[in-house]
Amino acid sequence: MLKGKTALVTGSTSGIGLGIALSLARQGASIVLNGFGDTEGPKAQVDALGVKVGYHGADMSKPEEIAEMMAYAASEFGGVDVLVNNAGIQHVANVEDFPVDKWDAIIAINLSSAFHTTRLAIPHMRVKNWGRVINIASAHGLVASAQKSAYVAAKHGIVGFTKAIALETATTGITVNAICPGRVLTPLVQKQIDANAARDGIALDAAKRELLAEKQPSLQFVTPEQLGELAVFLSSPAAENVRGAAWNMDGGWVAQ
Ligand code: NAD
Repeated sequence: MLKGKTALVTGSTSGIGLGIALSLARQGASIVLNGFGDTEGPKAQVDALGVKVGYHGADMSKPEEIAEMMAYAASEFGGVDVLVNNAGIQHVANVEDFPVDKWDAIIAINLSSAFHTTRLAIPHMRVKNWGRVINIASAHGLVASAQKSAYVAAKHGIVGFTKAIALETATTGITVNAICPGRVLTPLVQKQIDANAARDGIALDAAKRELLAEKQPSLQFVTPEQLGELAVFLSSPAAENVRGAAWNMDGGWVAQ
């Protein structure tokens, strides 16, 4: 379905981003990966699916590096057709204790980076009159939790950003939507499980169960593969009139 298209997924060396990149690759899209840590493993996984794969290590907190990544995608892949804004970080603290540098980093990486990639991707999509922008928000884009002020602000922000750009492109072949995952067992969530287990003096399995029971009625983690298939649907012709949605896949979290 996506043969001849290029998908760029930010923060795709791990977790949800890698799951989405693999799902889009299975549909034939060429893939531009981004993110930190091991890059060879993720590249090999995409390569094994028989599509063209590239990588750019831009730091999503740095607008000039984001511009370099978009220029790389234009020169090596002819531009970005499916843009998945996924890179994100978390920090947990009461607002009076929240480190200022963590606030700035979360807003830059989880919110402002999507502005920079999108503003640079849309001109190419307008020329082709086809494009998909998929912003990975969170259940925290729709409801809040204590101790997550920066994350909740950034995720509510990206849901609003999604709606605004969906309206700007509403009469074109470009659609802009957000996906709002509940808890997914990735390194980002594993860190919270480790911290809770240490804080409460309980085993990791018990901390995992507690984390799910607190918010997610299904008592199951959402998986990167399930989120990848939702991104495939949003990229499909059937989703042409899904515009400005904030689509939760959260085991019932925000239904409560
Ligand atoms: P993860 O930690 O597994 O992956 C994050 C990815 O972002 C990695 O590839 C990392 O290298 C990259 N990254 C981090 N900082 C970066 C930077 N400055 N520049 C470029 N890349 C950077 O996390 P994840 O759980 O897969 O989260 C992915 C997205 O999904 C995030 O936006 C997160 O907020 C969102 N999300 C996660 C969950 C969950 O339960 N895991 C739930 C809802 C939403």
